[in-house]
Amino acid sequence: MPRLSSHDVDAIFKALAESLPEPETALRFSNHFELLVAVILSAQATDVSVNKVTPGLFDIAPTPEKMLALGEQKLQKQIRQIGLYKTKAANIIKTCQLLIEKHDSKIPANRKDLESLPGVGRKTAGVVLNVGFGKPEIPVDTHVFRLSNRLGLVKTTTPEATEDKLQKIVPDWARKSAHHLLILHGRHVCKARKPLCGDCVLNKLCRYPQKTIS
Ligand code: SF4
Repeated sequence: MPRLSSHDVDAIFKALAESLPEPETALRFSNHFELLVAVILSAQATDVSVNKVTPGLFDIAPTPEKMLALGEQKLQKQIRQIGLYKTKAANIIKTCQLLIEKHDSKIPANRKDLESLPGVGRKTAGVVLNVGFGKPEIPVDTHVFRLSNRLGLVKTTTPEATEDKLQKIVPDWARKSAHHLLILHGRHVCKARKPLCGDCVLNKLCRYPQKTIS
């Protein structure tokens, strides 16, 4: 199949933006600290499962100081329904200590400082920068990776390479929303096992060899 032209890439994001006019994260939070904690908890867990535990947690620990006061054992209890909860609790407590000691209890708005926090990798930092600070990051999760490769936007084997390539080809106007547009389309239409090609607004542009032609 011929490669996607820049015109095609633009058309893909226009079609996604039209079908998903207000794309945003499903995670619930009310400040940058809560966003960071929710994103750390969402690693290898669904947003739905995270949203089940965070309202109760944020009622008692909406700041680094209050999270530290809660302590690791009680934090574990609050989040025990989430996978890897022990590791995540330990990372969140260490992150709170560092936020207080080095960042005046604020969430850094740059990748280097974010990635120096325990439990914060490239994807988590990208989500916080995009959702919390409005930066044009395109963090790559399982949906973004799958959809980008199926569509033919990229031909990659790792999330890192996918993000690098997307940063080069996604038009400027779509950079900030690209992450959510691809996630939502991947979650609801271009599903992992059975993509709903017949309902897909990208059907004509998609380069996936196994797509069902509508
Ligand atoms: S046409 Fe099918 S494979 Fe291609 S993006 Fe749409 S749902 Fe996914």
